[in-house]
Amino acid sequence: MRFLTADYLYPLYKNPIKEGVLQISDMGEVIAIFDNREDITNEKLELFDGVLCPGFINAHCHLELSHLSGQTDKGKGFLNFVEAIQQRNNFSKERIKEAIILAEQQMIKNGIVAVGDICNTSDTIFQKTKGNLNYYNFIEVFGVKNKLTDQIITDAKALRNNFRKAGQKATISPHAPYSVPPKLMREINISFDNKDSLFTIHMQETHHENELFQNKEGVLKTWLENKKASPEIWKNRQRAVDILQELEAEKVMLVHNTFTKKEDLTENYYCTCPNANLYIESTLPDYSIFDTDKLCLGTDSLASNKSLSILEELLVIKENSNFDLNTLLKIASKNGAEALGFSNLGTFEKGKTPGVNLIYGLKKVSVIA
Ligand SMILES: [Zn+2]
Repeated sequence: MRFLTADYLYPLYKNPIKEGVLQISDMGEVIAIFDNREDITNEKLELFDGVLCPGFINAHCHLELSHLSGQTDKGKGFLNFVEAIQQRNNFSKERIKEAIILAEQQMIKNGIVAVGDICNTSDTIFQKTKGNLNYYNFIEVFGVKNKLTDQIITDAKALRNNFRKAGQKATISPHAPYSVPPKLMREINISFDNKDSLFTIHMQETHHENELFQNKEGVLKTWLENKKASPEIWKNRQRAVDILQELEAEKVMLVHNTFTKKEDLTENYYCTCPNANLYIESTLPDYSIFDTDKLCLGTDSLASNKSLSILEELLVIKENSNFDLNTLLKIASKNGAEALGFSNLGTFEKGKTPGVNLIYGLKKVSVIA
């Protein structure tokens, strides 16, 4: 049994407690929370400088792209980034695997306990089955031509089944409003079964997405036309968020939302990846518009971020919002756990095993349990 205390305890399901004490079992299960250190007698208190909070949830990552670290140009815009990612297969399997192992180690060191991970391949399964972290895998589909729908969905189901056979949570999810025609969306809906709990989708990562749907123009439209895309993509949707009407799920997590306006907002979960937005588009979402009980945080991949650290993402939000520390930590932990359905993570509620992070000077994080 351990009794942990610091300047502040952030249980996240209730208000922060000055000099509060967290009692956990040797297995990391939360046993109790005490408001005063004096309540603990005859037990050894472990005293820390800083604040204690639950383990972080990285709600959006692409672990399989870790080998592309340093391979893409910074600040060249979204379409340039998409083209650069096409180089993903020009690397040996060994290099891809090694990068996945190192990226996971980095996340663990940075206090991350669960990940919402986008998958286009089975490359990460070998590492995920080791059980070092909790993963919700989103099998991402895209394909701008209607005639490829059957093949795309057949391949996606095979990949999803590989993940499920390995004991992993896996759901087929659409990539983005501009890359999935209505026909493919219908097949994605049909694929959703009782093992699935939410969809995720990249949303309004570039302003070209708004140009495409609202004005039926811009470089994204030219890009799609060059790829002989099915025009229903932009004809049937008047706004990027209109694609949500085609998704039949109770829960959706929208990722990026860099160019989302207040009138675009829905009841869904929203995930922001600030450092990736700065890397690719040199801009950030307007944080004042979001419901802070539904806002989650992700690192995106090492192709568009120098590290996989939720604390570093939090620091960017802190500089660009008026959120207090309790709100920031909820975004980093509680909300992502709720969105991804990890009911034993995200808060210091009794019976959970959420992991314990110590943050000191709001600069460094270390894993305490
Ligand atoms: Zn992404």
